[in-house]
This record gives sequence, C-alpha cells and structure tokens, in this order.
Amino acid sequence: MVTGPSRRLLLGAAAAGLAPAVWTRAAAQGRLAADPFRLGVASGEPAPDGVVLWTRLVTDPQAMDAGMAPEAVTVGWEVAEDAGLSRIVRKGEARARPEAGHSVHVELEGLKPDREYWYRFHAGGHSSAVGRTRTAPEPGADVRSLRIAYGSCQKWEAGYYAAHRHLAAENPDLVVFLGDYIYERIESRDADVVRPHPNVDALDLATYRQRYAWYKADPDLQAAHAAAPWVVTWDDHEVSNDYGGDADKTPLPRDLFLKRRAAAYQVYWENMPLRRGSRPRGPDMALYRSLDWGRLARLSVLDDRQYRQPRTCDAVADGKRIPYDCPERLDPSRSILGASQARWLERRLTDTWARWNLLGQQTLMGELRVEDGKVSNDGWDGYPASRRKILETWRDAKTVNPVVLGGDVHCFFAGDLSLERNGPVLATEFVGGSISSLGRSNQTLAGARLVNPHLKYAEGETRGYGRLDITPKACTVTFRGVNGLDRASPVRDLATFVVEDGRPGVVRA
Ligand code: FE
Ligand code: CA
Repeated sequence: MVTGPSRRLLLGAAAAGLAPAVWTRAAAQGRLAADPFRLGVASGEPAPDGVVLWTRLVTDPQAMDAGMAPEAVTVGWEVAEDAGLSRIVRKGEARARPEAGHSVHVELEGLKPDREYWYRFHAGGHSSAVGRTRTAPEPGADVRSLRIAYGSCQKWEAGYYAAHRHLAAENPDLVVFLGDYIYERIESRDADVVRPHPNVDALDLATYRQRYAWYKADPDLQAAHAAAPWVVTWDDHEVSNDYGGDADKTPLPRDLFLKRRAAAYQVYWENMPLRRGSRPRGPDMALYRSLDWGRLARLSVLDDRQYRQPRTCDAVADGKRIPYDCPERLDPSRSILGASQARWLERRLTDTWARWNLLGQQTLMGELRVEDGKVSNDGWDGYPASRRKILETWRDAKTVNPVVLGGDVHCFFAGDLSLERNGPVLATEFVGGSISSLGRSNQTLAGARLVNPHLKYAEGETRGYGRLDITPKACTVTFRGVNGLDRASPVRDLATFVVEDGRPGVVRA
C-alpha cells in the first residue's frame, strides 16, 4: 500500500514523466516516434453480422495531452479468422481525430454469425496487440450455450485489476461492464490509496481523457478488453458521484452541470467500443439498448442515470447522505428510467422469444432497507414505482426467466425479486461484486440480511466478478473472488447458484 511520502514521490515521478509531444517531423510523414497503442484494443456491440473494433491512440498515458499532437492520424485495421492473422477477411483504414480523443471506432458488417475473429491496428509504423472478438448468433438460432463475465466499479486508487486478468482467462463470449469504469474524484483519504493517479478531479474533456488513459494503461484491463467483445453501461462516477439526470449531488447550477455531463459523456464514448450512433450530442447520449443471442438470451442494457428524476428525501449526517424515507419517494410518477426508456423496456420484456431475459443495469435493483426501515435513495429504492412497473411487466407478460445483473454497491449479492415481501418470486438478481472498489464489512451485510430476507447471499469484503453460464435448461452464476490489493492474486469460487428454466429464485448449487 502506498501512503504518505512514498505516494507523493510516485506522483512526483509521474509528473516528471510528462513527456513533451513525441511527434517529430517523421510523424508528419506517417511515422510515430513512440508506440501509440499504449491503451490496447477492444471490441464491443456484437451483432450477428459484425462488431465494433476500438482503439485510441495515446503515446503517453500519463501526459495531459496523451503525447498526441492535435492532428488526425490514419489507422489501418485488419480482421482475420485465425489468431495468427493469416486468413484476413477484412481490412481498411480509419482516421483517429483529435476532436474524438484520437479514438477509432470501426463498425464491421458482413461477418459470419456466431464466429470468432481476431483483429489488429497499425499506425505510424507501429502495430497494436491482437484482440479476439466474436459475432452473435443469427436471430432465432438454436444456441446451446452462452458465457458472460460481468463486473463493475474499478476504482484505480483502491486496488489492482487481478479480477480482470482472471476474467480474461474465462474465455467469455461476452463481457458486460455495469458502470463506474473510472472514478472522477481523487481519493481524499490518503491511507486508503493503493496506487495514486494525478491529483486532479476529472471535470472537462482534458481531465476525463487523461483519467481514462491512466486507467486503460493497465495491462490486466487491456487483457480483459482483448479477450472478448464488451457491452457497457455507465453509472455515476463516469460523470459525478451520485448524480441523477441533470442534477449533480452538489448544488451546481444546471447549465454548468450539463456542460460537465457533455464532456464526460463525450469522453466515455471515445473510450468505449460503442457504435457511432451512440455518439453524444451535447449532454445527451443514447446508451440503453438490447442484444439477442439467438433464441437463448436477450440482454437489455439500461441507463438508470441519464433520465432519472432528482433524488428526494435525503438526510445528511456528518456531511454524508444517509438512508432516509419520505412520502415523495413513493410518488407513482417518480421514474428512474424516464418515459421513453420505460416504454422501450416494456416492449423488450413483452415481445421476446428469448429463453433467458437478462437485465444489465448499474445499481442494486432489490430493496435494501437498513434496520430502522430507511433506504438509500440513490438506487431503485429511491424510485420504487419504476421497480414495481418492471416486476408487473414480468408477471403480466409472463416474461420467460428474468435475471437481473447489477453493480454499484461494491458487494456480491444474490437476491429474489418479488412485488411483495414473501410474495411469489418473479426474478433473480445477481450483483457481481466490484473489480477493485472497496465494499462493506460482512458484519454490516449480515445485519442487512436480517432485515432484507430476500437477499440470500451477501459478501462485501472480497473483490471480483460474476460469471454466467447459460444453457436452455439453466443459468449458472458463479461469484469469483480475488484480493484486490494484490496484483497477482489467485481467483476462487465464492458461491455458485443455479436458476433452472422456469424456476426464478436464488438456489445454491
Ligand atoms: Fe462504484
Ligand atoms: Ca456507483
């Protein structure tokens, strides 16, 4: 653990390492003096005929300008049917432009369904690492299996990414990331900082870009991106802690906050393997979407931050918001999704042929009361009418096998979802821990379980990720635990659950 003077030493070293732009005259002629692929490669948004390939040119991840001159750079890309890249099936060129943070998003079409591909980029005389990706099966295909690895909350300062190294080795078909990819603030409590980054809050294009570059320089995170296509959503820390819609937690004027949100969303898009269609316009970015894996599974990915109404009934103690309750919380018009997304989701849950209907969303969906009956208002507990509406849709539409994946709370949770306490179980929720962010003590969680009997499993002291193995007959969920303070940590199974076809609810394997 790095604390006190040694931390300042490291920061000093990082500051001293701020290289001047490495671009030479040779750059103008198409050559780069330094490797521009320091952030690795990624892919995402798999469809039956294609996938998005991503990279972002950065020669110096620690420098505020990323080591890049404000000029566009031509980037070549190639896609092959083999890991050695001998059977090339597509190649082309893209422009990495400074106004997009020198990111590249290549949307491939015309690939074969349900197939693995490998890809690589070239720029300025350098070549990137090789990434593996795959396409989704054809619509209606009779698919026998799907493996998803999922995680959230990877605060750099709180620990290492051993979880990502092991996640990459799982050979997943899909990686789902449920938010808090970066943390915008600096850690104020020095003693908790395991590895520091520059002592600035991310607030604008330059500072958000640098924060992503700093995180993405991590080799374990790069390995996870190179292993499989990702499907992502965000939570609050990609913008600002606990924000909701157009309101920051701090009383920042709305127009100033929306300016900050616009910068944060732009840089999020630049750094994720997302389609051009989701590129933000000002402070707005379309992120909710769904993905089908033949007839086996549908994954609906929610955005429960951008459209939610402001928080209500907060109480403050010692400068921190604490769980509270008030009548406005129960207002049936309070929405965490906004009207358009809620209507869209209802259609996705109603008009579906999938054997497994997964919801990927960023917070704990189940109720989490504290001992005096109060709740935290930052998640679904602050918007119970929205939660009720989804549960009613599952019930009334007889949606087959709803399973919820969650993040945000930095704990592993497995819970039953019902409309009423002790009512029929309608769906099962699995919150897959946090990659590195610090959680809660298991003593606290044992107390929470006493007043929340629908939570069947809780573990807050171990970092890690979740793994889903889906077949037509069952969805097997394994919580995989690591020591987040040890870069070389081994991984172990914490718990395994099996949801059998037609039988919602948490059952230990
Ligand atoms: Fe988090
Ligand atoms: Ca969060």
